[in-house]
Amino acid sequence: MQLHEDITKHFRLVDTQKKALKRLGIETLEDLLYHFPSRYENLANTQYIKDISSGDSVILYGTLSNLQTKKTFKSRRAVAEGTLTDSTGSIKVMWFNQPYIAKMYPDNATVRAVGKVSGKQSLLLSNPEITVIDEVPTDVHTSLFEHGKQIDLLYPVYPESKGITSKWMYHATQKIFASAAIEAIDDPIPEETLKKYNLPSRSSALVWVHTPKNERDAQAARKRFAFEEVFSIQLLKQQERNANAKRKTLSIRLDNNDIKKFVDRFPFKLTSSQEKAILAITSDLRKQHPMSRLLEGDVGSGKTAVAAATMYSTIMTKPDGRDAGNLQVAYMCPTEILAKQHFESFMELFAHLPINIGLITSSGCQKFPSKVHADQATDISRSQLLKWVENGEISILVGTHALIQKTVKFENLAYVIIDEQHRFGTGQRQKLVRKDAISPHLLSMTATPIPRTLALTVYGDLDLSLLDEMPRGRKPIITEVVTPDKRENVYKRVHKELEAGRQVYVICPRIDEPDPEKLQALRVKSVKAEAKRLKQDIFPEYEIDILHSKMKPKEKDEVMDRFAAYETNILVATSVVEVGVNVPNATVIIIEGAERFGLAQLHQLRGRVIRSNHQAYCFAFADTKSKLSIDRLKALTTAKNGFELAEQDLKLRGAGELYGKKQWGLSDVGMEAIKNIKMVEAARSEATMLIEKDPELKTLPKLQELIEAKYQNLHFE
Ligand code: ADP
Ligand code: MG
Repeated sequence: MQLHEDITKHFRLVDTQKKALKRLGIETLEDLLYHFPSRYENLANTQYIKDISSGDSVILYGTLSNLQTKKTFKSRRAVAEGTLTDSTGSIKVMWFNQPYIAKMYPDNATVRAVGKVSGKQSLLLSNPEITVIDEVPTDVHTSLFEHGKQIDLLYPVYPESKGITSKWMYHATQKIFASAAIEAIDDPIPEETLKKYNLPSRSSALVWVHTPKNERDAQAARKRFAFEEVFSIQLLKQQERNANAKRKTLSIRLDNNDIKKFVDRFPFKLTSSQEKAILAITSDLRKQHPMSRLLEGDVGSGKTAVAAATMYSTIMTKPDGRDAGNLQVAYMCPTEILAKQHFESFMELFAHLPINIGLITSSGCQKFPSKVHADQATDISRSQLLKWVENGEISILVGTHALIQKTVKFENLAYVIIDEQHRFGTGQRQKLVRKDAISPHLLSMTATPIPRTLALTVYGDLDLSLLDEMPRGRKPIITEVVTPDKRENVYKRVHKELEAGRQVYVICPRIDEPDPEKLQALRVKSVKAEAKRLKQDIFPEYEIDILHSKMKPKEKDEVMDRFAAYETNILVATSVVEVGVNVPNATVIIIEGAERFGLAQLHQLRGRVIRSNHQAYCFAFADTKSKLSIDRLKALTTAKNGFELAEQDLKLRGAGELYGKKQWGLSDVGMEAIKNIKMVEAARSEATMLIEKDPELKTLPKLQELIEAKYQNLHFE
């Protein structure tokens, strides 16, 4: 048995198991070992049958008797059933579609049963996982060391996937640990580093993470893998930084006074965080190597003004050694409508300058100013525009991803800005940052709030600018957490807004379901059902449309266009659908099942309705009376910005709740690690030290191999 070998070589698998493993990304034995439990069940949480009630997730110990196979009365489905008895009572146990279970266990076997309790009059434990054990721990609190041997206190529970049970995972990992394969595991992390931070070796950590003897071992193992991940990413970042420092760029010269004069033309005074961001960016732009910086700020925090001021410094700089022409800027937007909007605002902002601005999208091209009207743009052919971009006559090119096609060549591209970067795929983003000898400066902008530890991990603090305050004078959005008894009242108020001509978003509750196919179907169903309910019961006189991720892009665009044209009044959507461009007339957002969302995500959803002169409202409908959930949601009404909410999510609910979690590409263990600022900082400083001593990690080839193999493809800019 060798770790790089295919899993099918060593395990007999049925089709559903194969599929499940594939979904989990597990192909080799090593992949299997790196698929960590999401949590551990602790014996100390064991319950007694007399104490359980419907809805509880339970671990029970007892004897299993009366096992038999039956057919259900109605559907004639085969079921296995039995009775579980402990010292306090008994409960009926059933397995649907698994009649063979009745034959698997001897009568009166002593077992551990893990499952969920259901049923009304009489309780039922359905589809529990059963493990036959030697004896029932009579009282788990006092008998941990019964007969001088420690009872296996924790056992792993793995991320769900239909077809692969935690029990299967447990036995599979045991089989690998029993082989010699485990001894062949090298540790890529240097021993001194492990010692310094008191981390277990890779092979111990693997055993501990799957079958810990106690909580401490489990934690030490997770800590080690978290460190490994953050450390590896930091090493890679440092190496990228070094490579970047070798790359040349077109340096952008303009002094701060000139920029200030330009900024003074804005009809508003910059916020101090906008000022800081502009200073940081322009000082990067003056350097000899390309900038790579992220500008983060809530929707409406004024990222465009920061972009414009720094673009100004670029287009006012002449190419090296020339006394005519100017450096060029490329500005990329995720949608055509946004590209058009930005093109128009740049026309206004830069109208007083002797420069040309171009717009390129897949449906057409424009140039400003037109020959005939100095204050207007004109349609031009794509080939004409490309010619002017290539000879440097277009100073600013705004566009969608049409901008990154190979046919688009610049004369002196010095500065690339990606707006709403989280909405581009990594591939699209990477195409822009060509790793040539001369590369442009790069500014990515995003409204996704992420906490400081995560930013440190994935970006490194040097390259991050935050806009953490909103421009003054903005009408704050009214946010209310609505308990079930207040719904009717809120619908009345929403009626008033609709009567006044406003429009409304209704976001359907977040659904968790491990099977991706089912998940999509469930979401679509919930959107359709909610739209139907609203039309029938609440807003019969208004036009209601739906938007969900199973729709084709064209259908989605049509729905958005109708909404923007005020042909529909209410748009019912899933949270996963980016509700595209802002429709300023949409001033109300209702979020159903708000307690199921992270705070940062709720904040982002709410951001869709704050671009208007009308008062905006966010109603967070909670399906719960739990004081804890309601209090958590109330943070929405008090927090100053998205970062604060992201920090709270991290503290209260853990990394899993961070909005956009997937896009960062960290593993679950890595995401967990970002709760721990000390560890992130330790990994950073350790990485810095190593790279200073040995930039290419020549003395640690295994480490270099690891970071290239596993982390090279993570790109966070
Ligand atoms: P976002 O960060 O979401 O891209 P925008 O750049 O589109 O935000 O800015 C939103 C609105 O706020 C724009 O109408 C812009 O003119 C305005 N704005 C930007 N900065 C300020 C400021 N310092 N004071 C007042 N209004 C501002
Ligand atoms: Mg913007």
